[in-house]
Amino acid sequence: MRGTSELAAADRRHLWHPFTQQEAWCGDDEPLVIDHAEGTRLFDTDGNAYLDGVSSLWCNVHGHRHPTIDQAVRAQLDRVAHSTMLGLTHEPAIALAEALVAIVPAGLSRVFYSDSGSTAVEVALKMAFQWWVQQGERGRTGFICLENAYHGDTLGAVSVGGIDLFHSLYRPLLFESHTTPVGDADRLETLLRAHADHTAAVIVEPLVQGAAGMLMQPAGYLRQVRELCDAHDVLLICDEVATGLGRTGRMFACQHEDVTPDLLCLGKGLTGGYLPLAATLSTEPIYEGFLGRAEELRTFFHGHTFTGNPLACAAAVATLEVFERERTLELLQPKIELLTRSLAQRVAVLPGVKEVRQRGFMVGIELAGGDSPGSLGHQVTLAARRRGAIIRPLGDVVVLMPPLSISEADLLRLVAITASSIAEVGIGRLPMAA
Ligand code: PLP
Repeated sequence: MRGTSELAAADRRHLWHPFTQQEAWCGDDEPLVIDHAEGTRLFDTDGNAYLDGVSSLWCNVHGHRHPTIDQAVRAQLDRVAHSTMLGLTHEPAIALAEALVAIVPAGLSRVFYSDSGSTAVEVALKMAFQWWVQQGERGRTGFICLENAYHGDTLGAVSVGGIDLFHSLYRPLLFESHTTPVGDADRLETLLRAHADHTAAVIVEPLVQGAAGMLMQPAGYLRQVRELCDAHDVLLICDEVATGLGRTGRMFACQHEDVTPDLLCLGKGLTGGYLPLAATLSTEPIYEGFLGRAEELRTFFHGHTFTGNPLACAAAVATLEVFERERTLELLQPKIELLTRSLAQRVAVLPGVKEVRQRGFMVGIELAGGDSPGSLGHQVTLAARRRGAIIRPLGDVVVLMPPLSISEADLLRLVAITASSIAEVGIGRLPMAA
């Protein structure tokens, strides 16, 4: 096996990393090369262990190398690794669809697979538009989205995005959408009054806007959005790519406000964070709007090569089984409370911490006082790494999103490392060593 330096050099020769300024990447200290993982720990090629404080980009649920999920993927590998969903079907896809329909908000009954959160959103946007066309309404070409929204990086998803840093450059390539401030139902109603006739859907990240920096929505807002969509006859798409699969303390964020969207997007944690798989779920009326004879061309002409990949579906079925068998959501509740308490005691009190935002196992710690935007977040990340935790900021918001399976001891350690890392970068006094 090649050593760390050799791997790092080869990385810098050939790789192009996502959301990364390559000039800095190639100039910085040697990158961390992850070799293997176990539970909530990642290990680098030199054998150092790190707590996975952001669930490998918000997707790990039950820990790494969970025996049930490992076994499900291995067993599926002995049957078939990939077979298409175009014109054929297979048991893992069927079993997963059954399992999902049993747990999502009542009324969602159809599962369309794709392979990333972005594609789950593209599918939802295209379905919404085409459904209206097939209802005889060709003018429903617009969408309404929230300020600071993030729904992925493909062009449809970017069209309903509201994070200037990521999105504004691409405006000339995008379709038009109307943006509304979060939490202001009156403004949404005004938009709907003016534009409902040419709006296909309102799209929201329910309860928490993750990539915007873990921005929390006021209680009751999601329900108001649902009611306004109903009143103005516009579809509602809930993007639960980040909030779904237990992150907010319930299986789906929509369930906190008893909301069933017309289309629900899932990704990230669907396979326990093992393999790329996403799903867009629809209600029966949406699905029925696509039925007809082949020559009527009401078919949803969309599908990716790896749509519904059997290995990924097997991992997802096992992930849902583990939720039940290990009573993940029940055991999560005291951990959420512990997290709230320890953030209040150790982090919120630090100078330089502007705000601590938390919903379930989604945490954003906003820092203030850096020289340039994002510098504090970056420095805290590096300091945390030296102390044995992997975290990744969103600008100057330090994000904590550990696997739901994390032990109470490791959860406290993650908060302690975060606190002492914030202190180390010079905006706070040094608290007790982690
Ligand atoms: N939607 C939301 C709410 C997300 O947070 C993300 C990713 O962070 C996406 C969509 C895009 O998912 P992916 O990165 O799998 O394309």
